[in-house]
Amino acid sequence: MGRVFRFATWTIKPDPLARASWEAECVSGESEDCGAESKALESPEAVDKWMCAHTEATGHTRFIRMATDYLLTEPPEGSLAADRTARFRKPQLEVVGGVDDAG
Ligand SMILES: [Zn+2]
Repeated sequence: MGRVFRFATWTIKPDPLARASWEAECVSGESEDCGAESKALESPEAVDKWMCAHTEATGHTRFIRMATDYLLTEPPEGSLAADRTARFRKPQLEVVGGVDDAG
């Protein structure tokens, strides 16, 4: 039995159900980082503002910035991965439709 391999492209796109966020932590300090953290904010600009305000208040100037976003992978149609994702989703769909119809 043969198997066909396709070199089709995968799609990776933002998850519309989840928002991206940015946050920063102050890593200023000699023996120990300051550790002050912004909360998760809705844009890089909001993080910029937080960092500037922190610098103004403390004189600290060194930060680590983290971005978090949610992504969805879509395997090429007909691929083994596509088959696997379909099987992965199926049980959830059956629960919604009613599993008890086993008559
Ligand atoms: Zn600080």
